[in-house]
Amino acid sequence: MGLLVLLQVLLVAAAAARAPAARAWGVEGHYMTCKIAEGLLTSEATTAVKGLLPGWANGELAGACSWPDIERRRMPWSGSLHFADTPGDCKFSYARDCHGPKGEKDMCVVGGINNYTAALQDSSSPYNRTESLLFLAHFLGDVHQPMHCGRTADLGGNTILVTWYSTAKTNLHKVWDDKVIQTAMSKFYKDDLSTMIDAIKLNLTEDWCTEENQWTACSTQTTTCADKYAEESAELSCPAYVGVGQYSNLEDEYFFPAMPVVEKRIAQGGVRLAAILNRIFSGENNSRLQSL
Ligand SMILES: [Zn+2]
Repeated sequence: MGLLVLLQVLLVAAAAARAPAARAWGVEGHYMTCKIAEGLLTSEATTAVKGLLPGWANGELAGACSWPDIERRRMPWSGSLHFADTPGDCKFSYARDCHGPKGEKDMCVVGGINNYTAALQDSSSPYNRTESLLFLAHFLGDVHQPMHCGRTADLGGNTILVTWYSTAKTNLHKVWDDKVIQTAMSKFYKDDLSTMIDAIKLNLTEDWCTEENQWTACSTQTTTCADKYAEESAELSCPAYVGVGQYSNLEDEYFFPAMPVVEKRIAQGGVRLAAILNRIFSGENNSRLQSL
């Protein structure tokens, strides 16, 4: 390992060590979303994406998709771009809900997706193209995590403290970021992320193949349709609160209904990210599953 590479690894590790409590899919969720997307990119989009990735990503988008979380403290302005909390009515309204903590317009995850998509589409945009790609890929993951469109009053479940399987103290937001994924890996996928990704890909070609076209139907238009993705998450967040109170202990009866929701949202995030990147970089109107 060269000195420069080693230095970069150490810097990334140090940044990860001081990463704040995330309001995002955890590292695994973002990795899976972006890995699924990578497998669906056209050759032109693959080349363009690889050309924009930072050196430390080693040519792999998936490995760089948590960058906005790792660098969040360095970029406090970006905090509200990771989510779009709602009053808890199971609905997302851009005009009502897409704002920063002081009411700054467009400063939510949907605004972030729209902004960085537009930046990548416009070669004269002042935004850094590498950062735009990493933000876009990350936010496509975030908008699919239901608790990212959870209730404002409890910060998307962050203030609801729970225990996971009577052992780990955590909160409802982190249950959806990490715990469901980690328990799924442990129970069904031999603690192996690639095995879980393969299982989700298999569902794409089998269980979900008839609905996959609907997932990307919106991406043929000029907008990113991120509003629709946030609306879906807001709707999914409501049942996620049912039966959960302060200091609840959550285990199998919570995990088993949650796991298929999490897996489908990761798949949808990946398919939709690929559709957006294919449209930006190769003018494709629809993502294809041929490379799965
Ligand atoms: Zn995030």
